[in-house]
Amino acid sequence: MKIILLGPPGAGKGTVAEQLQHDFGLLQVSAGELLREEVSKNTSLGKDIKQYMEKGELVPDEFVTQMMKLHIQDKENYILDGFPRSVPQAKDIEDLNVNLVIYIDVPDDVVVERFAGRRIDPETGNTYHLKYVPPPEEIKDRLTQRKDDKPEVIKERLRIYHSITKPVRDYYKKKDLLKTVNGAPPPKEVYEEVKKVVEEFLSK
Ligand code: ADP
Ligand code: AMP
Repeated sequence: MKIILLGPPGAGKGTVAEQLQHDFGLLQVSAGELLREEVSKNTSLGKDIKQYMEKGELVPDEFVTQMMKLHIQDKENYILDGFPRSVPQAKDIEDLNVNLVIYIDVPDDVVVERFAGRRIDPETGNTYHLKYVPPPEEIKDRLTQRKDDKPEVIKERLRIYHSITKPVRDYYKKKDLLKTVNGAPPPKEVYEEVKKVVEEFLSK
């Protein structure tokens, strides 16, 4: 089964994908994670990618699409998290025949609050939220904040989301693949809704 998770940055796509991976045995393939890995290698390619990410801009379509395709080639069961993020990216993966696109709907003001509290554990890669997904006391001191979770970058990421990424939702709506889940409630409730959508699809 091939699922796409769509939604604004900070909507909770990664949080949902981790649980889907666990419950349904689907591989989580996060575009942002793969790009951050490339940046951390400090190669000349990584340095180029970093420039886009630091500003909150999208990394060029051809590169991201190629990177994602490389990671999913020969696989049949996965969740694409944070990809596609533009209509050209969506068009470039038509041949994958994705089964289901789940749109996690969260208003901008909620997303901004999620960015502010998002913290990453550099040892495990796990994501927490200081208020909504509190980390265990013993790891609190080592948590880090993503560089692109700063207010000025967030503004740009949201602008790009509305102009370039949101049309992807309509693209899949027209193809009758889109299911929308309200992403505003607490994590457990959001996941229950997503799980229902996946189970409904599987029972067809
Ligand atoms: P995305 O992958 O869409 O950018 P994340 O999964 O990283 O989003 O979630 C963004 C932040 O919001 C994280 O700090 C996460 O712990 C928190 N979060 C995720 N889902 C919820 C939710 N339903 N309610 C409150 N906070 C959430
Ligand atoms: P994320 O971890 O999903 O919030 O993504 C972090 C950053 O990685 C984004 O702000 C973009 O700069 C870049 N990125 C992630 N996914 C894509 C994509 N599908 N296309 C282009 N750039 C991307």
